Amino acid sequence: MDGTGLARRSVEETTAAAAEIRLRTGTPPCLATVLVGEDPSSVTYVKMKRNRCARAGIESRHVALPADATTADVVAAVTALSNDPGVHGILLQHPMGPHVDERAAFEAIAPEKDVDGVTMHSFAAMGFGLPGFVSCTPGGIMRLLDAYEVVLAGKHAVVVGRSAILGKPAGMLLLGRNATVTYCHSHTAELSSIVRQADVLVVAVGRPRFITGADIRPGAVVIDAGYNEGNVGDVDFETAAEQASLITPVPGGVGPMTIAVLLEQTVAAASRQLGLS
Ligand code: NAP
Repeated sequence: MDGTGLARRSVEETTAAAAEIRLRTGTPPCLATVLVGEDPSSVTYVKMKRNRCARAGIESRHVALPADATTADVVAAVTALSNDPGVHGILLQHPMGPHVDERAAFEAIAPEKDVDGVTMHSFAAMGFGLPGFVSCTPGGIMRLLDAYEVVLAGKHAVVVGRSAILGKPAGMLLLGRNATVTYCHSHTAELSSIVRQADVLVVAVGRPRFITGADIRPGAVVIDAGYNEGNVGDVDFETAAEQASLITPVPGGVGPMTIAVLLEQTVAAASRQLGLS
């Protein structure tokens, strides 16, 4: 499954939508990024997201807080952006350091600006099947499945991993599309035998090549959300590809779609806040 190609097409549409907003309102969509400290991967992620914004005609505004910023400091910075009419979306990069109450910091994001889908409001809306912003990686996974016309209703979807930003929402979105969903996690007994039942398998564990072809039912659709050091996914691509009917590569699968969804949700947020939709 070609996430790079799909993301390119999606970003082209988002770029056109951003240009239209600028033309009609005189205001470009604007994403604010907030970084606490200088964790090298976080710095790289934020830089990459801002570059992608620039290429899509989305302005970005960066707020850099020192590594010793307190919860109150982060909440104050995010609250200011939530109240700033020139900012349409907010991306608060984590981790923020063990001394910061990350949940409190995320909750300072106004729901209408939560384009990364990290607030309890967004999570609840997704759970209820109501409109709202979804967590970007699960959102990207659903776009990939739809682009390849994967039938979900009545299928057994197995999600390995249950993090709040990835595994859990991915399973909820699949459930919303009438798949029968099983979650696996670090306490799951007989993991291989459950994984082998999957028609659709989503792997989000953070362990290189954790799932191999031997775990995969012939013909299954395999989504590898993992991204480990050395550009390696959570699925052993070579052996898994021999079993799967469709499979995402790493890199070039889920990763590019995550950013595409972030940009798309930022433009959608701007459109709504500027009264265009
Ligand atoms: P996370 O918060 O560390 O969660 C990992 C999940 O895997 C947890 O639910 C954990 O179970 C489960 N797990 C760990 N060991 C396991 C085992 N032996 N058997 C079964 N389950 C096990 O990670 P995450 O943030 O969800 O990220 C997962 C992967 O996706 C990472 O490789 C990350 O780099 C990647 N990722 C990619 C993108 C993207 O844009 N492509 C975005 C975000 C993350 P417990 O809950 O029981 O601990």
